[in-house]
Amino acid sequence: MSTPSHPTRSAWQTGFRGKCPRCGEGSLYSSFLKVTDRCDVCGLDLSQEDAGDGAVPFIIIIAGTLGVGIGVWVMFAFNTGVWAPIVVAFPVVAAVVLILLPKVKGLLIALQYLNKAGDTGTNTFDENS
Ligand SMILES: [Zn+2]
Repeated sequence: MSTPSHPTRSAWQTGFRGKCPRCGEGSLYSSFLKVTDRCDVCGLDLSQEDAGDGAVPFIIIIAGTLGVGIGVWVMFAFNTGVWAPIVVAFPVVAAVVLILLPKVKGLLIALQYLNKAGDTGTNTFDENS
């Protein structure tokens, strides 16, 4: 398979789906949140790329807003004590975090690739790899 030198897909189509930011075919992760060293389809070196905790603030905002919203709604709609919002909101927050964290992390890595901005402030993606 020939590999395009320039990505033809957006970060939403590649990183958000957990795919390589260059070819959009290979998997971005070797496990749940561990970025693979090299794309198994196009060979892009991903060993230096890791968005780290960059995705976490976005997830905290989304999951926190949902969790608090659901908790407050449950507490006032059903006139419960403090225990009910915690019991109801916790699974929702946990599910949102587990689902969105790899997607947002992949999106950030793909955006780093598309904008030629690596973790160190320089382009760590080697176009010749
Ligand atoms: Zn690839």
